[in-house]
Amino acid sequence: MNRKNISGTKLKWTAALVTAMLLAGSAQTVFAGDTVYVNCDVLRCRSSEEIKDSNIVTNFHYGDKLERVSTNGDWTVVLVNGQKRYVATAYLSASQPAGKASVQNTSSAGNETGASASTASGTEIGLSSGYKYADFSKINSGKAILYKSTADSRKNKTVCVNAGHGTKGGGSVKTLCHPDGTAKVTGGTTSAGATTAVAVSSGMTFADGTAESKVTLAMAKILKDRLLAQGYDVLMIRESDDVQLDNIARTVIANNNADCHIALHWDSTSSNKGCFFMSVPNNASYRAMEPVASHWQQHNKLGEALITGLKGAGNKIFSGGSMEMDLTQTSFSTIPSIDIELGDKASSHSADTLKQLADGLVSGVNSFFGF
Ligand SMILES: [Zn+2]
Repeated sequence: MNRKNISGTKLKWTAALVTAMLLAGSAQTVFAGDTVYVNCDVLRCRSSEEIKDSNIVTNFHYGDKLERVSTNGDWTVVLVNGQKRYVATAYLSASQPAGKASVQNTSSAGNETGASASTASGTEIGLSSGYKYADFSKINSGKAILYKSTADSRKNKTVCVNAGHGTKGGGSVKTLCHPDGTAKVTGGTTSAGATTAVAVSSGMTFADGTAESKVTLAMAKILKDRLLAQGYDVLMIRESDDVQLDNIARTVIANNNADCHIALHWDSTSSNKGCFFMSVPNNASYRAMEPVASHWQQHNKLGEALITGLKGAGNKIFSGGSMEMDLTQTSFSTIPSIDIELGDKASSHSADTLKQLADGLVSGVNSFFGF
């Protein structure tokens, strides 16, 4: 978000809305979207009224201009891209602090007021025919979006966040399981022995009737915000219910534009078994086939880092945290690449659960890259 957007947002805070909020009986002091300024060096912008690492959305800086919605004393609600965020009231002032006029003129997005990392505009990236293995893809008219972090300290690493499933028509098209045309070495959605698999399956349905693809998308969006806030650039494969990119296109785009690839899934069992990653099968011919031969150890290392992170954040882990699976994704990946199953049909997918999973995944990514 840039300063212009914030000004635009202000217009939405009509007198009627403020009146409605007052009528709702809130004990808070409600403001008509007035302007306040940050008067400390770095002000944490949080998604809830609590001081903890996991709810930091972005940072504001001295002199930044914010739209105040309400306050309950310690915490002030500000509006960032239409979303209520929380900042400590003590570090706000009603008038512009002295000595920071230059902030108003900065062209650096990183210093922009209210620059929620998640609202940074992204760049579309499609499947280039020049990419290795691009020819194996059958569905590739869609675009992934690359977001650059606007955090103070950038990691200079790009994480591909791939919300599993969500390609209309993907179940009626088949692609090769392996680039060399050999057969799958394990079962799974497609049986062992098959040489082709559905381009993108539709995914399972949770016990409460929610489609897996909806939950993987919600998870991807949370993870994107968290990674951007941490300084990672994020390549989002899918940001709506349908992206026309099959599993090979997703993988090849990631290969060429990211430093690691994390595909988010929930498993089709109903035992609430917990998180695990699909590890590279311990099969001699599979591990000898390129690009698996050159990358399988990195894939497993990424999976192990994510499971350690998930476990550390208090998430349930299934068995040893991994299951051997011959996946199309793995078979075409030339960067550390993993399919992570974050639970199954019986698992909770509440907002709090997804946040806890995000805590674990971010911690795993940090550890994988040595941060
Ligand atoms: Zn899945």
